[in-house]
Amino acid sequence: MKNKSTSNNITKTDLLKKLKAAENKSQESEVFSRALISSIGDGVIVVNEYGIITEVNQTTVDLLGYKKSELINEWLPRALPAKDKDGNDLPTTERPVLQSLITGLPITAVSTYTRKDGTLFHVYGTAAPFMLDGKPRGAIIIFRDYTHEMQVENAKDEFVSLASHQLRTPLTSILLYIGLAKYEEEFISSEVRNYLKKIEVSAENMQQLIGDFLDISKLDLGRLDVHPIPISLEELIDNQLSELLALSNENKVEIKFIKPTASVVAKTDPALLSQALHNLLTNAIRYRCKQTPKIIIEVKSEAADYTISIKDNGIGIPKKAQPMIFQRLYRADNAIEAENSGTGLGLYLVKKVVEVLEGTVWFDSEENAGTTFYIRLPRNT
Ligand code: ADP
Repeated sequence: MKNKSTSNNITKTDLLKKLKAAENKSQESEVFSRALISSIGDGVIVVNEYGIITEVNQTTVDLLGYKKSELINEWLPRALPAKDKDGNDLPTTERPVLQSLITGLPITAVSTYTRKDGTLFHVYGTAAPFMLDGKPRGAIIIFRDYTHEMQVENAKDEFVSLASHQLRTPLTSILLYIGLAKYEEEFISSEVRNYLKKIEVSAENMQQLIGDFLDISKLDLGRLDVHPIPISLEELIDNQLSELLALSNENKVEIKFIKPTASVVAKTDPALLSQALHNLLTNAIRYRCKQTPKIIIEVKSEAADYTISIKDNGIGIPKKAQPMIFQRLYRADNAIEAENSGTGLGLYLVKKVVEVLEGTVWFDSEENAGTTFYIRLPRNT
């Protein structure tokens, strides 16, 4: 029988050939995807848009101790229960894979998986959605065993904590002896007094640095005690400002505190919040505008939370430095130029403290115009 021609002269045989070629291509690409997944050295889990596991590679099977058949067609949160870093069950909605399916964005997190034999292990993973017509149609999770890195991190934090403790004692005696020497006025010349002053300033800087190291290692090791009590925010900020009065006067910084219309009582840890505010305020003074330095502090209260803003008209944070600003030890070039001494630990500490207090911290900044830092915390009352 003769093939009937279509209007543009394509025969039925041509169409069948094209169909076959397309089928082959799709089979080829499936084989290729499977080969790719199985060759990846990290664990790979593929889920559909409902979170049902459709594919896992051999590394996943090796790491988790399940057979492939025990995982395929299972709902991921049920098949692989996860815990947060404190060992609590991670709620389903907080699972990175479900978040990436909901938001359509890749999510990277450290979490803890349970193996088939019940043992726990830390994983570092990314869940990335794959999209069709703008909608997530599934996600691919790539993860690796993070236990060793966690142990190394912990050992490092333990070392910093121990070393800082050990350094504190001799430093306290140095400062005490400097204090005593200053009383012996008749025996020391003005030149020596000058040297003593310099030693004292350096020792105090070192004491501050060691204090920061200790606080950071406590935070990193999850050993920081949090004692929330009801506090008046106004009072807490006023106390901070009087502590910084000498520094702000010395640098001729005008400070304005815009108080809330009704006083705000919040349940939080006053020592931790004071520490975060202290770091932000000292930065606002240190990175001030040299001509007419000004700082405005404001508290805005909402039903469930409150936001404290600290605005300065100082040197600002250059655009390219902004993504790194909360990283440990990071300092922007303009800050190094304006203020030689600095550790790059203050903001890292602020971020950690605010996270411990279940809040958020962020900023707006423009170079040579100024910076505003914001801390939002729950009222919890
Ligand atoms: P340090 O101030 O000791 O360098 P921080 O961790 O407190 O360390 O701050 C990190 C960096 O963030 C600073 O070096 C500076 O580049 C930038 N920064 C922080 N606060 C301000 C501010 N108010 N104005 C301009 N830059 C700031």
